[in-house]
Amino acid sequence: MVSPSDVKPFHAEGHAYPPLSSRRIPARLVWRDGGMARLQDHDGNLLTDGVPLGIEQIPGGPLLVELPGDWQFEAAPGSDVSTLPGPRKGRRLSRAEAWHPRLALVVGLCLFAAFAIWRWGLSVLVAVAMWVTPESVVKVIDAGNMAVIDRTFADDSRTSAARQKEVQAIFARLREQAPPAPWGEYRLLFRDMPAIGPNAFAMPGGTVVVTDQLLERFDDPDVIAGVLGHELAHVSERHVLAQLYRAGTSYLLVTLIAGDPGPLLQDMLREGNLLLSLSYSRHHEAEADRLGVATATAAGYDGVALARFFEALEEDFGADGPSWLSTHPAHGDRIERIRDMAGSQ
Ligand SMILES: [Zn+2]
Repeated sequence: MVSPSDVKPFHAEGHAYPPLSSRRIPARLVWRDGGMARLQDHDGNLLTDGVPLGIEQIPGGPLLVELPGDWQFEAAPGSDVSTLPGPRKGRRLSRAEAWHPRLALVVGLCLFAAFAIWRWGLSVLVAVAMWVTPESVVKVIDAGNMAVIDRTFADDSRTSAARQKEVQAIFARLREQAPPAPWGEYRLLFRDMPAIGPNAFAMPGGTVVVTDQLLERFDDPDVIAGVLGHELAHVSERHVLAQLYRAGTSYLLVTLIAGDPGPLLQDMLREGNLLLSLSYSRHHEAEADRLGVATATAAGYDGVALARFFEALEEDFGADGPSWLSTHPAHGDRIERIRDMAGSQ
């Protein structure tokens, strides 16, 4: 008779990634046949435990295990995880595949897409791509972008906890007044990003990032509310995903429409820095200004303070300076138009 406690635990060495972070912690995953898995660091401290939510073999890459509490474990090459409990495919991937439409619909969409490119150009193709994009994919885009940004451009925020709390309170008030996020939920993250200076940017799923540099440069809650309101509008009006798709290759779009999100997801992850090079169109900027000012005003702030933000940045950097102005270009009479909104509120 072999009692369960006699069963020798299996383990794999590798690295752990904390929730929403790209920090790599050398770690070990320990499990018993058919039982729970336990993720621990090299000092034996428990990081998380439970049945893995998904096990995903990236083609030509590492094996990723999704664990409860948004932890991820990347197994070292050659680890034997054949007895590891949990679904064999990544949760994201299998969800994306569950959406996999029936063949006829796929063929129909492909034909329509080909026709649409020929007839109306990219705008319609982007609209179709956005229409068929499931929430799970948008969430992966947010998480993937954040991981790439953390690895490449961003450090942990140096903003004090008290100040972060203040800014989160502004964000919470805005969130109540803003139209809902079309995919997922709004949330605000803080990062130290010297390379891009005083800046804020949004991801399609509702993740908004504000830099320490912006909070250091602008103390005024009305200005912060104006900027954050503007970013929420880019999310609620689906500008971010539209720009991502526009900037993406047609290969990416066709892959999405053809319903094979495997390589698509990886491209999206790899192209995370795309977000930082995005420049919204004049139309999107005007819409985000209008809606952002309205949201900030409804939340009890002076939304028109957004104009002060642009003026200050122009003073600091010149009209075509770096930072926010390049990702949110200040077209001509933008400041004046924002000022004019005061009368129309
Ligand atoms: Zn903008």
